[in-house]
Amino acid sequence: MKRPDIDVVVVGAGFAGLYMIHRTRAEGLSVRVFEAGDDLGGTWYWNRYPGARCDVESVEYSYSFDDALQQEWNWTERYASQPEILDYARHVADRFDLRRDITFSTRVVSAHFDEESSTWGVTTDGGETVVSRFLVMATGCLSSANIPAFPGAETFAGPTYHTGKWPHEGVDFTGKRVGLIGTGSSAIQSIPIVAEQAEHLTVFQRTATYSVPARNGTIDTSYVEDVKAHYADFRAANRLEQGGFGSRIERGETSALTAPEEERRAEFERRWEAGGFAFMASFNDFLLDKGSNDLLAEFVRDKIRTIVKDPATAELLMPTQVIGCKRLCLDTGYYDTFNRENVTLVDVSTTPIDRITETGLVTGGVAHEFDVLVYATGFDAMTGSILKVDIRGRGGQRLADAWEAGPVTYLGLSTAGFPNMFMVSGPGSPSVLTNMIVSIEQHVEWITSCIGHLSRTGFASIETTDDHQREWVAHVNMIADFTLFPRCNSWYLGANVEGKPRVFMPLLGFPAYAERCQQVAETDYEGFVLTPA
Ligand code: FAD
Ligand code: NAP
Repeated sequence: MKRPDIDVVVVGAGFAGLYMIHRTRAEGLSVRVFEAGDDLGGTWYWNRYPGARCDVESVEYSYSFDDALQQEWNWTERYASQPEILDYARHVADRFDLRRDITFSTRVVSAHFDEESSTWGVTTDGGETVVSRFLVMATGCLSSANIPAFPGAETFAGPTYHTGKWPHEGVDFTGKRVGLIGTGSSAIQSIPIVAEQAEHLTVFQRTATYSVPARNGTIDTSYVEDVKAHYADFRAANRLEQGGFGSRIERGETSALTAPEEERRAEFERRWEAGGFAFMASFNDFLLDKGSNDLLAEFVRDKIRTIVKDPATAELLMPTQVIGCKRLCLDTGYYDTFNRENVTLVDVSTTPIDRITETGLVTGGVAHEFDVLVYATGFDAMTGSILKVDIRGRGGQRLADAWEAGPVTYLGLSTAGFPNMFMVSGPGSPSVLTNMIVSIEQHVEWITSCIGHLSRTGFASIETTDDHQREWVAHVNMIADFTLFPRCNSWYLGANVEGKPRVFMPLLGFPAYAERCQQVAETDYEGFVLTPA
């Protein structure tokens, strides 16, 4: 029988892994975290591209578990920048003495379950194997870079960068011709800044994106004082919101279709001026009714027509898909950047990128030359980092095989055949459709309290069943099918990665989900089989 070296192994030291350490210790259990990066922070350690920042407001995108922490930390902007969020993560780690349980610069390459001892053997790229009772994948939903396999990519003579693996020393684009592929959130944030520096910027766009002004700025101190005075209530109210944030957002309670045109436009205009995700909350059916959605989408297209001076470029920048079914972007000067003389937009929707060459790339038979290439091409989201680890469960079954047709989980926390393994913000949980720190806290608290319960009551293992996960996946899809979410080729569906099964992965609706998790725990872990030691 293998004897465990440790109670819990956690993979990843982003916000999820950090909080796992704190809560596992509180349960009186031992924990060890492996992190591939040289330091903690996860997303905010890796994504250092120009303009990287949060688009959930700072006072909400932060931990709520410790009141002294939330009172003492001071954000400087409405939406925190990447360096400030990374500083915050480091502050949390120091404040709660978390670093001593993290092994940095170490990637977990495999995790194999041993049925006899109900333990996981977790092996790193350094060749170390640790035996643990529990395995927690806190590997992040957006942590596995997606770089499309363009023919000739290796021949490009200049430097190439992916937004999610940005050099720590930064990149100076002064005097350079830059080619940038992608127009998602990372691209939208970086394009205006790269354009200011570069001699010329060519943006390769496959799908035009809806973006709304962020209206970022210095944080309103009286607002912060008010939030801090009522932080517990503020957090509780946010947890009751569908996305776990925005309790102070004014939410329209009627359909956009029923409002008189003048009133509707005035409301859209008011929200456009105020900036932020509240733009989508003026009426209550944008993601339920295509007619209502069209009205909002057309408003944004009108804005693009007004902002972008060259009609042909404006036309190319106008998205046609449902607004909101790919993640809405918040920007600072994105559309206006295309008025600059040193910026060119190239459509690659009808003529895909044929190949990368030594001096640029070719699309539709036309060569475009540049000195530096930036991939803002996103991530193999939600499953990428989990499946990069060779995870084998009961009977040696590979997780990659179990998920061949798409991820199957119960509550987004657990998969049948893989006992004592949990995922933080796994596929099938609200995760990326929420303020992720809210989801992370809810998952970490559920997982650690479950592990604590098993340890106190003498259970060796916990595992969900095929039936429960089948029902859960059907439930996740049924909810998505009520909405317009499945209508576009988003990464929520895995559509951005060639060959990835098309399955809607996140669950809509944080409060109902959190309540369900609570009920499951209170009913002796309904949907799980607990095996005594
Ligand atoms: P991560 O922060 O991704 O951390 C996972 C860690 O696991 C990484 O450090 C990675 O190196 C490590 N890891 C992975 N595999 C292995 C392995 N095999 N071995 C060892 N280590 C491994 N969310 C919001 O709610 N609001 C926002 O405004 C927002 N903005 C974002 C902006 C960007 C640019 C990106 C990419 C994401 C954004 N997100 C946002 C989502 C963000 O990922 C989450 O908010 C949150 O930071 C996730 O924390 P995490 O700990 O779950 O994962
Ligand atoms: P993304 O939204 O997936 O965008 C990737 C872009 O690359 C898309 O425009 C995509 O086009 C394009 N692309 C991919 N493969 C391509 C190919 N073969 N040819 C041409 N174009 C290709 O990735 P991201 O911008 O990194 O953002 C990912 C997520 O991270 C966001 O949705 C958000 O959740 C989070 N994020 C948040 C912020 C923030 O503001 N807080 C900032 C960055 C990231 P298609 O659309 O056609 O696939």
